[in-house]
Amino acid sequence: MSTTEISPVTAASAGFEPEELALISQGFETAAPSSIVAWAVEHFGDDIILASSFQDVVLIDLAVSVKPDLEVLFLDTQYHFAETLWFVEEVRTRYDLNLTVVKPLAVPDNRWQLDVGGCCQVRKVEPLERGLAGKLAWLTGLQRDDAPTRANTPIVAWDEARQMVKVNPLATWTADDLAAYTIERELPVHPLAERGYPSIGCWPCTRPVAPGEDPRSGRWAGLGKTECGLHVPASSD
Ligand code: SF4
Repeated sequence: MSTTEISPVTAASAGFEPEELALISQGFETAAPSSIVAWAVEHFGDDIILASSFQDVVLIDLAVSVKPDLEVLFLDTQYHFAETLWFVEEVRTRYDLNLTVVKPLAVPDNRWQLDVGGCCQVRKVEPLERGLAGKLAWLTGLQRDDAPTRANTPIVAWDEARQMVKVNPLATWTADDLAAYTIERELPVHPLAERGYPSIGCWPCTRPVAPGEDPRSGRWAGLGKTECGLHVPASSD
């Protein structure tokens, strides 16, 4: 039986050194998100994937305007709100999305009641790694104003944890920018967004927030957890 050796992806094999990516990121500080997406598509072609929680569709709308067949990744944790699963299908149909849905290897259980870190690892982090496998770059909807932990999010960086380039075209946009774009483009809106859920994750770990409250305070409320592990800070964060 023959075996094939797979070379690990490195910054160099993705076409850039980390220092070069940092300079590119700085150059994009005042760029429109659509130009950043266009740069990413030009450099990575079919080797880039967009990971979306489907909380909103701003990045999807921007990205498929540049590359209509761009692969979009959705992690089905098996604990999403029914509204989220409905919304994913609405958006898939509207854009004729090239959508990949990745599920956990584990069956539903009660781990979210006992060990939220382990639950996120099994239902989000490991499935993300499978979804990103073989790609050179990923696009995310991270914004600096999401939370203090994301305040230094670069626009482009070498993602050391995933060993690939990470592109965050909306890093400099605020929630108001997203809202304005949504209205201007008449985009579909997640049904829970108008019911007090500015940040939407799994149903056991998401509650609505009051007006003026930190938008992400409804995630893992009272558990001292703010991130699920999908977004590990880059070295330039
Ligand atoms: S957000 Fe909650 S339910 Fe979802 S994977 Fe993490 S711990 Fe589990």
